[in-house]
Amino acid sequence: MYDIVIKGGRVIDPAQNIDDTLDVAINGDKIAAVNKDISPQEGQQLVDAKGKIVTPGLIDMHVHVFDGIMKIAIEPDVAGVKHAGTTVVDGGSSGHTTFAAFPKHILPTARTKVFCFLHLCSLGLIPEPELKDWDEVDLDAMAATIEANKNIIKGVKLRLVGKLVTSAGIEVVKTAKKIAGQFGLPIMIHIGDTDKQVPATLTPECLSVMESGDILAHVYTGNQGSVLRPDGTIVPELKAAVERGVILDPATGRNNFSFNVARRCLAQGILPTVIGTDLNHRCLKDRTFSLPVNMSKFMALGLDLKQVIAMTTVNTACAIHEEDKIGSLKPGMAADVSILELKSGAWTLIDSPGETMKTDKLLMPVTAIKGGKVIPAEPVALPPSAS
Ligand SMILES: [Zn+2]
Repeated sequence: MYDIVIKGGRVIDPAQNIDDTLDVAINGDKIAAVNKDISPQEGQQLVDAKGKIVTPGLIDMHVHVFDGIMKIAIEPDVAGVKHAGTTVVDGGSSGHTTFAAFPKHILPTARTKVFCFLHLCSLGLIPEPELKDWDEVDLDAMAATIEANKNIIKGVKLRLVGKLVTSAGIEVVKTAKKIAGQFGLPIMIHIGDTDKQVPATLTPECLSVMESGDILAHVYTGNQGSVLRPDGTIVPELKAAVERGVILDPATGRNNFSFNVARRCLAQGILPTVIGTDLNHRCLKDRTFSLPVNMSKFMALGLDLKQVIAMTTVNTACAIHEEDKIGSLKPGMAADVSILELKSGAWTLIDSPGETMKTDKLLMPVTAIKGGKVIPAEPVALPPSAS
């Protein structure tokens, strides 16, 4: 007997190279079996997935869920289970002076699993732009916060924007590397400066010091600090960084995602490693919507379904070093499952500069199964229909 049997879906689990019509059985908070023809009588609860896609629980590499504290943050469950995802990674909303609110107030009420990147700026992203000067950096205090929250904090965040980065440049990046390196953690670097203050040369300089496992957020930004040279070719430092194992995240969001840059990068072999949404209040009902919508954007740009599922399951699990627990439906892994539907129709997708792209396929969130609990999706908004 199983607690839950998910029947008849197209199971896509890139970690195991599975793409087949299969049933998934869950016991407690663990995957028990993935087989053909598990009898419906064997499940206390039956989830009919016929015509649907069943994947390991989707993991969003970049969201802002410092809800109630950061102005633009949303609830973790809006970024996660309400759009059929099961895990989200907060992209540095908090710094060491504010981080405690995560374990005290936010994590206990979320059904979605939340991991965090700790911002180099003491206050995180509460002042925007952050990091006016070195007074906003305190490595000893950061070390204490990371040490006390190793199960939640997955790395150190820095945005290449603002006064301190403009004046001190690569020294700030090296400072972030130093504190992250002390704990064997990666850095997550935001590129794209809408204020046009930070010299564009800092992006290649920064890529040169990034190591395997470090994360480049907003790889397809069209703003100052983009990875493209004026002639449309990628900076050579990017190629070298990818070869070293630097992780590329489009972190699509509101301000730093250009279809044009994405097309040029994809044509030069620069694919996302993971897909984060940078989901926050400003783009939830406009442009970004949800992780499944952003997976659909990359399908519209030419990637296939299996690729975008790998980029939101096993690849992301590896990026946060949780691949022994999540990101696959291997028996014994967490009972985190996403059920999606690939709908046909006509929708308009919009990027940050306002370019539109039509798509005839959209991944819709249907259900999240998180820790063995079945949670129907409640999408907040969808892209507009194309006429
Ligand atoms: Zn962000």
